[in-house]
Amino acid sequence: MSAVPADAVPLLRSMIRAACVNDGRVESGQEMRNVELLLGYLGGRETLESLGVEVHVIEPRPGRGNLVLRLPGSVAGAPSLALVGHLDVVPADAAAWTHDPFGAELIAGEIWGRGAVDMLSLTASMAVAFRMVAESGVRPAGDLVLAATADEEAGSRWGMGWLVEHHPDLVLTDLAVTESGGGLVLGPADARRVTVTIGQKGAAGRKIVVRGESGHGSMPYGVNSGTLLAAEVVRRVAGHRPAAVVAAEGWWPDLLAALGFSPALVARLCDSSTVDDALPETGEYARVLHALSHMTLSPNVLQAGAKVNVIPGEGRVEIDVRLLPGQSGADTDAELEAALDGLPGVTVEKGLEAPALVTEATDPLYRAIAAASAEVYPGAEPLPLLTPGGNDARHYLSRGRPCYGFGLFSPTVGLADFRRRFHGDDERVDAQSVELCARTYERVVRLLGTV
Ligand SMILES: [Zn+2]
Repeated sequence: MSAVPADAVPLLRSMIRAACVNDGRVESGQEMRNVELLLGYLGGRETLESLGVEVHVIEPRPGRGNLVLRLPGSVAGAPSLALVGHLDVVPADAAAWTHDPFGAELIAGEIWGRGAVDMLSLTASMAVAFRMVAESGVRPAGDLVLAATADEEAGSRWGMGWLVEHHPDLVLTDLAVTESGGGLVLGPADARRVTVTIGQKGAAGRKIVVRGESGHGSMPYGVNSGTLLAAEVVRRVAGHRPAAVVAAEGWWPDLLAALGFSPALVARLCDSSTVDDALPETGEYARVLHALSHMTLSPNVLQAGAKVNVIPGEGRVEIDVRLLPGQSGADTDAELEAALDGLPGVTVEKGLEAPALVTEATDPLYRAIAAASAEVYPGAEPLPLLTPGGNDARHYLSRGRPCYGFGLFSPTVGLADFRRRFHGDDERVDAQSVELCARTYERVVRLLGTV
């Protein structure tokens, strides 16, 4: 039986059930289960090799599997393309779900489960598209790589991070497609836009250590403890409002218009002096639009004290900071200084720093994505946007190689709802979208270099 886009649905369901849950520990994830599922779907190593495909299974730590397949192209010098999908998922709290997060039930046309959106649906679709191309006997112009990787949800140390360091020639193609927000259909039917993620925000994490007084829990009078100081840090950081950065032209007003806002509201959202007042009027979009127009500082880890009868002298707060293009760690420190406003006993330690990364979106892959989308949604134009989070695209973007977040979804999936499903409860995706993704990836491979 030859591969067809509909294969992506049962493959996705198997991958959800494999429950490659990555909680950050090296022994978690166990993505080799999904590597074996993919290899099984693809017919196994011998079948792939008989089709001319190089097969690499790379396991940097026991069970942390990565599968890299390469189908050589037919035209020397044609740009190579990687389809990059991760195999791991974040944990799920089953008690908060309507259905088993690892049951992969198909209910009213939707597949429920952890990873349905982030990003097993795309990874399954990429595998199906790869098989369709490999089986066709018609080679693509440039090499086609499928990189199904481990550990994306905990920083990619045993996944793409390992591969670019130890096997760069296998995975660092000229062009790449991966996850996040790509391929949603927005706007009215006669003026549809298909989102394509062209970049990601940067990061400048900070740890704030506070040193106050310690003492006995029975005598708290006047003791400015580590607990109180840490709570005060959280309060001040959460109450601080970095200034908005918005452009009056380009992807920002484009996105706002595609979301259907009135011209008057769009104008206010495009003015940095009025955007903060206007954001609440965007309703369910406020959270993502805020993230796309501001440096965000989210105090997510708060620690102080270990025993109820001991007043701790020390506390700490870890802050997830995300940067817009052009912002740096120095900007973060300036914002934190303003937020903390001279609070005594505070030391700020630097965490991982990475700038925001954005492509020009002028290359042949971007044109192929546009053409493949328009085959499904006639007249639809791409709508470039950034993703507030980071993902494996950074390994390409930071080396000047275009990498887009793209799939192609049915018009039933909206931006706010889609973003909420990332790492959210009741994560699910409609089967039509999964098949559309598989079909569209195959078309992108075929259209690359011809449009
Ligand atoms: Zn993901």
